[in-house]
Amino acid sequence: MSEKTGCVFCDFDSRRVIGESEFAFAAHFDCAIKPGHIVVALKEHVESLAAMSPEQAADILSLAARVARAAEPVAGCEKFYLVSIADAVPHYHIHLLPRMRGEAPLGPHIMGDSGWKGETGAAVREDEIVRFISSCREALAEQGS
Ligand SMILES: [Zn+2]
Repeated sequence: MSEKTGCVFCDFDSRRVIGESEFAFAAHFDCAIKPGHIVVALKEHVESLAAMSPEQAADILSLAARVARAAEPVAGCEKFYLVSIADAVPHYHIHLLPRMRGEAPLGPHIMGDSGWKGETGAAVREDEIVRFISSCREALAEQGS
């Protein structure tokens, strides 16, 4: 993740990374719809679910589950939705979207014609993002690998 490739996930800002595994990394999403919006991406530029190896597929979902366990109490959410679209960025990734208690289901309301609905990355303050990343890293470290 040091040479610029033009791909947002190949060039991802490592300061946003919460945790990683052999084939994937998890990070707070820069264009978050709400605090705690996490993205889990393969380290290698693989364009689709079908294109990844069985090892990559198992690894990315395993990391997503580990990060969700660590981040649920940090975000204070009931659960995480798992969404994978990759229309705009053809580098395989999963979005983990926190669902807070009492919130209406996101389902049909999550995407609009021009992209993600709801808050934008600008609505999530930098100190909230930094605190979230730090707390998730601590929670992951407590889990071990
Ligand atoms: Zn890429």
